[in-house]
Amino acid sequence: MGESPVQNHWRSVQDHSRSFWDFTYVYPVISRRSRGLSIGINLNPDKICNFDCVYCEVDRATPPKSRVVDLLKIRAELAEMIRLARSGKLGEDPKFVEAADLSRVVRDIAFSGDGEPTMVPNFDECVRIAVEAKRAFGLPEAKIVLITDAAGLDKESVRRGLALMDANQGEVWAKLDAGTEAYFKTVNRSSIRFDRILANLESTAKARPIVIQSLFLRVHGAPMPAEELEVYCARLRAIVDAGGRIAEVHAYTIARPTPEPWATKLTGDELESIATTIRARTGLPVSTFA
Ligand code: SF4
Repeated sequence: MGESPVQNHWRSVQDHSRSFWDFTYVYPVISRRSRGLSIGINLNPDKICNFDCVYCEVDRATPPKSRVVDLLKIRAELAEMIRLARSGKLGEDPKFVEAADLSRVVRDIAFSGDGEPTMVPNFDECVRIAVEAKRAFGLPEAKIVLITDAAGLDKESVRRGLALMDANQGEVWAKLDAGTEAYFKTVNRSSIRFDRILANLESTAKARPIVIQSLFLRVHGAPMPAEELEVYCARLRAIVDAGGRIAEVHAYTIARPTPEPWATKLTGDELESIATTIRARTGLPVSTFA
């Protein structure tokens, strides 16, 4: 991957708020990982997640805008956001002035949000809305990205949604922040078993290449222990050895304030050192986002 055209200090990069104008579900961001405009669809306006990551930046103190997933409204908001982007109106918003040119080109439509997108019961119908928008607006190059904690990748409606994504420039960006169950429980604080996450990553990666997204941080001052990093690398190798395809690893660290003051960011050098270890142990390409 060449140098990103996106500058880290831009307001549109720093501010990943999922509230934009009077939209309920759809929000625009300039994303370093997408290398431009990503139109997010927040499938969790209820802010529900099956993880409770120590670094989660979702503001759960503010009441949710909505508790339901209204497909008609998502469809209308997505169309409106694409129109705003392509007309240049989005670039006139103060948040996007530094990225006015980039904000005209839809790089991807991303299922993300204030919780875990695969928790909705009809994920496949949500994907269909993105597919139809791509067709209606002539966006064959735009990806459909699922940003997921991997816990729901074994659900039927999610498998159907992934198949639709596969036929429409889909990409799965799946979280893996740990090598052991103990570290998983420490960082992601989920009641879901770690072996289910690993099995889901493996079976999903066998069906199409996936991107692994891993957040590395300090927990009470300590970065991921060396032995934990070794096990993490072994987990990635196990997926590949089983026939899974990992296109890339995104290694990143905390960018914004966290609810837990003891969960803090790594330095750029520390993150690069971890990336070097992952490359050496797995042979996989690793991009860092410090
Ligand atoms: S998976 Fe994402 S939304 Fe859920 S707690 Fe973790 S960071 Fe927050």
